[in-house]
Amino acid sequence: MHVLASRDREELRDRWRVGVTVGAALLADVDLAFRFVDGRNHHSAESHGIGFALLTAVAGGLVFRLLGWRHAFVLGLAAGLAYATHPLLDYLNVDTNPPIGIMALWPFSPAYYKFPWPIFMDIGRTLTWTTVLHNAVAGAWEATLLLPLLWAAWRWRSRRLGGPAWREGSRASR
Ligand SMILES: [Zn+2]
Repeated sequence: MHVLASRDREELRDRWRVGVTVGAALLADVDLAFRFVDGRNHHSAESHGIGFALLTAVAGGLVFRLLGWRHAFVLGLAAGLAYATHPLLDYLNVDTNPPIGIMALWPFSPAYYKFPWPIFMDIGRTLTWTTVLHNAVAGAWEATLLLPLLWAAWRWRSRRLGGPAWREGSRASR
């Protein structure tokens, strides 16, 4: 999302903007921490709904505006969309933790949704060697599918914005 939202090469290479979008994409999983509060499993519930993605976009836009960042609302929108990619990816993976699926449309609907033909593997939440190994394989599989997309977006964006791509650019400046 960050790559597609950048309006020029300076923004494309801005580490803060990268951080904000990546952070927003991970934000939905703070619900994993709520388990320690009341002992129940909150993962994939309200925080994985469209409502929080919208909230992230609006709140993000306002905060970046207050901070005086360039194109604050475009970045807010990118953060909101990045937030939404998280439930989307969770929707596409294997879920073995009931309730199965995610509350994708919360607060509009409390129903859980699950893609019938999962693309990604599930991520284990226990700390055993089998789980660690399983998660490593799952992560590698996800990277195999997603990195080409990132690379393509980056190439496309760099070409559209003109000038050399990130790699040549950063090498020249160092
Ligand atoms: Zn999640």
